[in-house]
Amino acid sequence: MDNLYCLRCSRELEAGQKSVAVYLFAQTVGVKPRQKSSAQRICFCPQCSVSLAMGPAPEGALNLAAWQMIRDIVGADPALTEAAWESLHGIEEGLLPATGTGSAHPMRPGAFFEF
Ligand SMILES: [Zn+2]
Repeated sequence: MDNLYCLRCSRELEAGQKSVAVYLFAQTVGVKPRQKSSAQRICFCPQCSVSLAMGPAPEGALNLAAWQMIRDIVGADPALTEAAWESLHGIEEGLLPATGTGSAHPMRPGAFFEF
């Protein structure tokens, strides 16, 4: 079983960890025999999923379609948002210098938006 990495931040996603997977494949229509590409599985960690969903619409029809799917799925269940906040909190404590008080807005949608 191969390891999965978040497409956006390259964080390794452990099996069973909360994440969003986007499955993508292409197939021909009206062509016989029908050709079907291999399926790609694209994963986003909770932070990137939520950040993408809260961020501005990306450019490109394919990006936009994926963005709308991620928005749907992030909006459907608060568990992903909670996981994003938990991991964000952990990163702040572990990597950033102490600022004394917790920021009221640790989540900056769009600040690292790049699809
Ligand atoms: Zn990520």
